[in-house]
Amino acid sequence: MANISVLQDITKLAKEKNAVLVAISKTKPVEEIREVYDAGQRAFGENKVQELVQKYEELPKDIEWHMVGNLQTNKVKYIAPFIHLIHSVDSLKLAIEINKQAAKNGRVIDVLLEIHIAAETNKSGFSEEELIDHLDIKAFDSLKNIRIVGLMGMATNTKSQVLIKNEFSGLKSFFDEISKTYFKQNPGFRILSMGMSGDYLIALEEGSNMIRVGSAIFGEREIKKNPTIPI
Ligand SMILES: *Cc1c(COP(=O)(O)O)cnc(C)c1O
Repeated sequence: MANISVLQDITKLAKEKNAVLVAISKTKPVEEIREVYDAGQRAFGENKVQELVQKYEELPKDIEWHMVGNLQTNKVKYIAPFIHLIHSVDSLKLAIEINKQAAKNGRVIDVLLEIHIAAETNKSGFSEEELIDHLDIKAFDSLKNIRIVGLMGMATNTKSQVLIKNEFSGLKSFFDEISKTYFKQNPGFRILSMGMSGDYLIALEEGSNMIRVGSAIFGEREIKKNPTIPI
C-alpha cells in the first residue's frame, strides 16, 4: 500500500522548493499507482520500457510518464509516442535514436543528460568532461526533435551525507555553469533532476528542482539494492 501521508508531505515540501516530484513506481502494481494518482500525483517514473508501456496502457492518460532508467536504443521506439521526459540520456547514440523516433511520431521529446557523479562505477552517465567535449562540437545541435531541458544525476549509495552533499553541489555548479555558457540561448534548459528517497532532502538543499522518489512513497521494493559504499 502506498503511503499517502508521506506523499503529501513530500509534495508540500517540493512545492515550497519549486521542485517537481516524480513518483517512481517501478515494480509496483497499477492498483498502487492508482492510489497515488487518486491522491493527486500526476508525474510517475519507471526504469524499464516494457513495464512503462504496460502501465501507460492501463492507467489514465493524463499521467506524465518519466523514463529514469538505463534505456537501450532498440527500445526507444516503444516509449517515443507518449513519454513526457527521458532522464537518462547517457550517450550521443541514444540522443540520436530518441531524435529519430520522436521525428517518426511528429514529436519533440524532452530529455535530460545524465551526468555520472557517484563513486560507483556501475552507474551510467556522461562525465562532465565528456559532455563538454560533445557540447564543444555542437553534437546535439542538429537533433531538432529532442529538447535538452536539463541534467540528471544519482549520488553514491552511501551513509555519508557529506559525500552526497558534495556530489549534488558539484552537479549544481556544473548545471549553472553550462546554463550560462553552452545553453545560454536556451531558456528551456532549466531542470536539475537529483534526489531519491534516501537523499531528496539534501538534493533540495543543494538546488535540485526535480526529485525522483520511489520507496519512501510506495514502500521498499523486493529486489536487492546495490551495496552501500562505506565512505
Ligand atoms: C529507483 C530509482 C529512483 C527512486 O529510488 P528510491 O530510492 O526508491 O526513491 C530514482 N531514480 C532512479 C534513476 C531510479 O532508478
